[in-house]
Amino acid sequence: MTYQDNVQAVRQRIQTVQQESALSSKDVRLICVSKYHSVEETMSLYQVGLRDYAENYVDGLLEKKAAMPDDCVWHLIGPLQSRKVKDVINEVDYFHALDRLKIAKEIQKRADHVVKCFVQVNVSGEESKSGIAPEELEAFIEGLAKFDKVEVVGLMTMAPHDASDEAIHSYFGRLRELGQSVQAKDLSYAPCQELSMGMSSDYPLAVAEGATFVRIGSALYQE
Ligand SMILES: *Cc1c(COP(=O)(O)O)cnc(C)c1O
Repeated sequence: MTYQDNVQAVRQRIQTVQQESALSSKDVRLICVSKYHSVEETMSLYQVGLRDYAENYVDGLLEKKAAMPDDCVWHLIGPLQSRKVKDVINEVDYFHALDRLKIAKEIQKRADHVVKCFVQVNVSGEESKSGIAPEELEAFIEGLAKFDKVEVVGLMTMAPHDASDEAIHSYFGRLRELGQSVQAKDLSYAPCQELSMGMSSDYPLAVAEGATFVRIGSALYQE
């Protein structure tokens, strides 16, 4: 498999699911998760057309961004420590892992523009996962009202690795419903129209449940 084959296979799979699933979104944006891979490998994916890239850590994001062409879009998908916000917040296009008001407060202080954020929700309730509990989402979103540098563009989640397809479907479906309930509040700072869900092992299920951003690493880099 070449990089081009990988990209084509993922895009094709997304398209097939879009055609088969009533809940899927017409626009699904493919984010390449470059965290375990070199700039050279990542450039091979750039050359076959990918422009959205994600890293989990601040240092990884800054290094890759400095080395890659200027027309890339950068996503930070890992949790952020508050002392690191200032190093990275003006370098990212999207932050996918907002789950503490302390971080929102620090973004408010350090950002020179409105930052597009996803609130991370722990829909499965797995203890090892970050993200806020579904029951706490409403209050959390209300708490963000005073930070005008934070725009809640959507919700993000990760499904457990070992769950059945059926369980994963229900977690992703739950995130879609939570997103709709935030949307229904019609808050100017939280349009919440996007869903960041789905990785290499489960993106077809995520697209079937309405994902608008999928975060894919290994399926794009595999040899
Ligand atoms: C690593 C990672 C991914 C991509 O994982 P793959 O299994 O390589 O596709 C997606 N989202 C998050 C938050 C990650 O940490």
